[in-house]
Amino acid sequence: MQERTSPIQPAELPKILKQIHTEAQALYGRGKVASYIPELAQVPAHQFGISVALIDGSTYSAGDAFTPFSTQSVTKLFTFVMALKLVGDDLWERVGRDPSGARYNSLVQLEPENGKPRNPFINSGALVIADILTSRYTSMPNALLSELRRLTDNPHLGWNSKVAKSEIDTGHRNIAMAFFMKSYGNFNNAPELVLENYCRQCAIEMTCTQLAQATMFLANDGQDITRHGHPGEEYLSPSAARRVNALMLTCGAYDAAGDFAYRIGLPVKTGVGGGIVAIVPHVGTVAVWSPELDSTGNSVLGSFALERLVQLTGLHHA
Ligand code: GLN
Repeated sequence: MQERTSPIQPAELPKILKQIHTEAQALYGRGKVASYIPELAQVPAHQFGISVALIDGSTYSAGDAFTPFSTQSVTKLFTFVMALKLVGDDLWERVGRDPSGARYNSLVQLEPENGKPRNPFINSGALVIADILTSRYTSMPNALLSELRRLTDNPHLGWNSKVAKSEIDTGHRNIAMAFFMKSYGNFNNAPELVLENYCRQCAIEMTCTQLAQATMFLANDGQDITRHGHPGEEYLSPSAARRVNALMLTCGAYDAAGDFAYRIGLPVKTGVGGGIVAIVPHVGTVAVWSPELDSTGNSVLGSFALERLVQLTGLHHA
């Protein structure tokens, strides 16, 4: 097999990340912190963190990279991987794999498409995935936590109960979606239970460094190289890892996926907590976080930082 060389010069990363941090701070005030989940509106807006993790195990960070944040839709990546491992290609009977071109919480396609969500990375799709996992595990959010604890080697990860409750109390669109899909027979459990599990899932907190670690298997052909004591363990098959990356590239930023692919060209998954994770296949992962969002629900400083990182390192993948 041909030896691949990293386009990233690790020695230059500290300087590059510092520069990106400085440039990004000039963009404070250009977006809005998510407030439709009332508890998220409490998060101080002017924060920014970035971590780059390389497959040799080294990590480079700047800004608030060690501050835990609400991962929200970024967790859809991990639940999707869990469901794919559980049910394989049968998954595609219940959820599609095409971009939606609509907002992450849109209901509009569900009726003409008979309750089958476009992809696992929008709310409707993630609710179906949560339904699949709810059927399989006694506690679906705990099952997800143990996957994340394993992938980060950190036994302390957890969800923020206030954020989860805040969304359980106010998530009327998601409630509508879950019941609507149930009416089409695309939901096996009680919608109330799945919604509660989904809100706990979304309220899981991680730092940029932890998120970069947790996704490392996607940069490394499915191998979980960061787990102490079990180097080289396969977490996902190489072909499945490739497919997850393809879905992230086409659907990972909701209706801004095309724009992200054009500007950044890497598989990503974003969340309304302001986090974004990007995969650089065979090189490493990048996690960025900054709470202010643009009109598509993606972090303003986060997407800027990824674009700059790609420019400054020549990482563009597509
Ligand atoms: N918990 C959020 C919701 O369901 C997640 C959305 C997101 O991050 N895009 O609305």
